[in-house]
Amino acid sequence: MIELVFADACTACGDCITVCPTNVFDAGADGRPQIARQADCQTCFMCELYCSADALFVAPDCTGPTPLDAEQVRAAGLPGQFRRDSGWGEFAASHPNQHWRMDQVFRMARNAPAAAPTAP
Ligand code: SF4
Ligand code: SF4
Repeated sequence: MIELVFADACTACGDCITVCPTNVFDAGADGRPQIARQADCQTCFMCELYCSADALFVAPDCTGPTPLDAEQVRAAGLPGQFRRDSGWGEFAASHPNQHWRMDQVFRMARNAPAAAPTAP
């Protein structure tokens, strides 16, 4: 689940708010994301992928929140690790994982009309 926003690194670009498929964030008065609905996070890591400032951290446990020390996470170099190792953005040429190719799929999914609910 999304756990941390490093406000001092955030540039308030708003990309994480835009790409989150479950509307977890609200924009604060300064434009920086606030984790408003953590329980709605599906641990898809898209906010991390799109944050070129490495100002977010998503913990891998999708079942519930993970208690974390923000400064330990930062000191361990974890913010941005998923984006880098996924070969996203500026790392596309240097990292063999081709996850960055999902950008188009994510965009299509984001812009697709919501599906009608299916019968149980
Ligand atoms: S994508 Fe990163 S830099 Fe942009 S608003 Fe979100 S946390 Fe801040
Ligand atoms: S991990 Fe996915 S669902 Fe969770 S806050 Fe980030 S973009 Fe939203």
